[in-house]
Amino acid sequence: MPQLGFGVFQVSDAEAEAAVTTALRSGYRSVDTASAYQNEEGTGRALRESGIPREELFVTTKLWNDAQGYDDALRAFDASMSRLGLEYLDLYLIHWPTPSRGLYLDTWRAFEKLKADGRVRSIGVSNFTVETLRRLLDETDVVPVVNQIELHPYFQQAGLRAFHREHGIRTEAWAPLGQGRGLLDDPALTALGRAHGRTPAQIALRWHVQIGNVVIPKSVTPSRIAENIDVFGFELSPDDMKAIGDLDKGVRLGPDPATFNVTG
Ligand code: NAD
Repeated sequence: MPQLGFGVFQVSDAEAEAAVTTALRSGYRSVDTASAYQNEEGTGRALRESGIPREELFVTTKLWNDAQGYDDALRAFDASMSRLGLEYLDLYLIHWPTPSRGLYLDTWRAFEKLKADGRVRSIGVSNFTVETLRRLLDETDVVPVVNQIELHPYFQQAGLRAFHREHGIRTEAWAPLGQGRGLLDDPALTALGRAHGRTPAQIALRWHVQIGNVVIPKSVTPSRIAENIDVFGFELSPDDMKAIGDLDKGVRLGPDPATFNVTG
């Protein structure tokens, strides 16, 4: 799995085709969509028409909350694959655990079947907490390859990252740029950007890369799409990393997965 991919949350189906095409031309090979984003068709068109061999692409989609449960998950997977127009998927994620509904273990068993049948190469989860991960590990067979969680310099998730390390689960960061809200104006990131001749977004993404996160920044602006993948030609020093480590406020932008149980 490429360490840096392209996210398409809040991108319309029509915009997704153009944005993913631009991303692929800028060198991205990994794309993160979801049934709930309603842009699997546009994303799939861009992937299929890119001319890039399928085996060089890494495609992730996610099962929405309303399709949890064994049979519903198998049906939802087929629907996503027909919208994407692909023969196989690289990574399928349970989008949210929705713990009060009590369906994520049965859902995971359907994911294990999809993997055993070769329809998806790897299976993982998103927005799982230590508690929901622990149950999954205790009561099912396949360890999720990743947990995709909200993570950025203002919300660093040290506890969950340590749990992932202990269990061989890769941490994937959503909202790696803090959704562009405030984080990119932070004085520490701005100062580090000046020192390295980089933008605050590149500093934030470089920090993710150096702590080992998989990242999937989103943009529909071609110059930013190119800027966000250009983070492999410089390095942050231990002092730089500490300055960013000190920015953690422990405050989420998104919902709390322990109580987020919506299906709409
Ligand atoms: P993000 O942190 O990637 O921020 C994206 C926003 O930041 C853009 O809309 C733009 O406003 C700004 N931006 C992007 N590049 C910039 C640049 N170079 N300079 C200045 N501003 C810039 O937030 P996100 O889109 O929420 O998260 C990334 C991806 O993670 C999503 O597209 C989606 O694929 C995934 N995601 C998953 C979940 C989940 O529940 N699993 C939730 C949210 C997002």
